[in-house]
Amino acid sequence: MTSDNRSGPYLEVQNLVKWFGDDRAVDGISFGIPKGAFLTLLGPSGCGKTTTLMSIAGLHSIDSGRIRVGDVVYTSPKEGIFLPPEKRDIGMVFQSYAIWPHMTVTQNVAYPLEIRKLAQSEIDDRVADVLALVGLTDMADKLATQLSGGQQQRTALARAIVANPLLLLFDEPLSNLDLKLREQMRVELKRIQNEVGITSIYVTHDQAEALVMSDEIIVMSKGQIEQRGGPHDIYSRPINEYVSNFIGVANLLRGRVVEVTEPGRGIVEITDHGKHIRIPCRLGPGIAEGQAAVLSVRPENVHAERENSSDSDLEGEVLQAIFLGSYVDCRVRWGDFEWKVIAHPRMGLKQGEKVFLRLDTEHTLAVQP
Ligand code: ATP
Repeated sequence: MTSDNRSGPYLEVQNLVKWFGDDRAVDGISFGIPKGAFLTLLGPSGCGKTTTLMSIAGLHSIDSGRIRVGDVVYTSPKEGIFLPPEKRDIGMVFQSYAIWPHMTVTQNVAYPLEIRKLAQSEIDDRVADVLALVGLTDMADKLATQLSGGQQQRTALARAIVANPLLLLFDEPLSNLDLKLREQMRVELKRIQNEVGITSIYVTHDQAEALVMSDEIIVMSKGQIEQRGGPHDIYSRPINEYVSNFIGVANLLRGRVVEVTEPGRGIVEITDHGKHIRIPCRLGPGIAEGQAAVLSVRPENVHAERENSSDSDLEGEVLQAIFLGSYVDCRVRWGDFEWKVIAHPRMGLKQGEKVFLRLDTEHTLAVQP
């Protein structure tokens, strides 16, 4: 094995490029993650997440770039290095459970230890520990075919972690489960990862999953990285319209920055039916005076009021007010634009009512189009 003793991130992907025919599936992405971290690659179908994951696993070659884990270089075409997948010490969990139907849970989970030729007593101990961790102790002797989808996925997870690999790679592992189970498994998967502390990369197109589970998220589009950050950062400080739109729900309005009032703050003018409205906001990175920008405001930061308490003069009509217990999901028409607004049930907003919209300035963000 080739060693590389540089300090820095535990897993490092540098300028990864992968072509499939004429399609540049991964377009020169770079990222590193510290040991024990849980990083999610998030993006729509075809953005290159799985290709990135498979490149790390060594399940296909790459055209250029370099992948290193610890002090071992896994892949570097320039240096003529390609470590075969079985030497990479990686655990994987896929969407399809990929467990052997003719084997019991115990046999499935013990398999990676058997091929490593561990002593039987050690195998028994480790399998018992890991089955307890994933909550399958009572299922140990069942055949894989006798398990529910959730139990099969727990078995796959147990098999992936039993040999204590250097990395855990997940490719949409929960997408075959129904919504309720998926929500439960998100939390549990994160707990288990926390407990075993194995550095993990998780691929999903489901933003809620990414927000719940990740220490950090990389939002991808067309083989490139749009933004990287913690879940809270990505949600509250999206860098551009694409990320705003992809994570959570946002009101997105095109406008122009007409004034920078202080560093990081300014006024964006939006226009509707010849009316110009000036909206104070925070300016995202790279947003300057005179520039076209998109205002991004989450529904929980738009307040519908019966009296006009701000000077922005955003007056609209309630198109829809759906009572959802703790909040009311509203749509408010303002010119051609439909605002998504979260209102308090106590306001008793009714369809057809006129309301004024007050935007929470701290959480109104001008981002790149
Ligand atoms: P999904 O969630 O649908 O898997 P993804 O973000 O994981 O999407 P990739 O599977 O990495 O995306 O695919 C990226 C691009 O590479 C797509 O355009 C896809 O069609 C192409 N691609 C992926 N694998 C292959 C392959 N084996 N042969 C040819 N093209 C491929």
